[in-house]
Amino acid sequence: MNFVDDKTIVRQYFNSTGFDRWQRIYGEGQVNKVQLDIRTGHQKTVDTVIEWLQADGNLPGLCVCDAGCGVGSLSIPLADAGAIVCASDISEKMVAEAYDRATAVPGKLYNISFAAQDLEALTGKFHTVICLDVLIHYPQDKAAKMIAHLSSIAESRLILSFAPKTLALTALKKIGELFPGPSKTTRAYQHREADIIKILENNGFVINRTAMTSTSFYYSRLVEAVRK
Ligand code: SAM
Repeated sequence: MNFVDDKTIVRQYFNSTGFDRWQRIYGEGQVNKVQLDIRTGHQKTVDTVIEWLQADGNLPGLCVCDAGCGVGSLSIPLADAGAIVCASDISEKMVAEAYDRATAVPGKLYNISFAAQDLEALTGKFHTVICLDVLIHYPQDKAAKMIAHLSSIAESRLILSFAPKTLALTALKKIGELFPGPSKTTRAYQHREADIIKILENNGFVINRTAMTSTSFYYSRLVEAVRK
């Protein structure tokens, strides 16, 4: 199977069963224990990014691209804090849900826009590009091209999160259980931190901050890379 098929599968998944599952996980309603653990872990990753950006003291007016925004878990609080956010996702249903959630925020958010788009087709220039928990859908040999593209639209900073390869494979299997199909685990890709850092360096970045979120079923390494 080539990657075009992989991407199509991801898009179809997040427009169907994946949408139902993940919009619940990234919501507030009742979920099972594993999903609750993932919700908690993911929220920690989102909170860390918000803390980093708030600590810099320039969030209001900051131009941010949230590539693979899902249901807007990061985009919406960033816009609420005054950032100018371009949120996009390959899944039309995820973007539509993000739009609905943004609309439900008290006091209208005029500083957030939404697009259903493959992140590798994004154009424009942004101070900060953020891509959380999307690399899990990219095989290792496709990560460099994807990160290079995000780098090309990031003027000052690129923030990525990924499932690190060094952690127990059982964790990956647990993540894999969330995906459909007979070879569920093959669709969740881990990445070696050294590989990701090398790719970022090759694109003109240095690592500024890192963080790690680990719960029972959620593992995510967060890396902030800034222009040299
Ligand atoms: N970044 C969001 C967050 O942390 O809340 C969503 C994470 S979710 C695990 C992965 C998302 O990546 C899905 O919404 C999926 O549709 C999106 N995605 C996967 N491949 C993509 C691509 N090539 N371009 C844009 N979005 C993509």
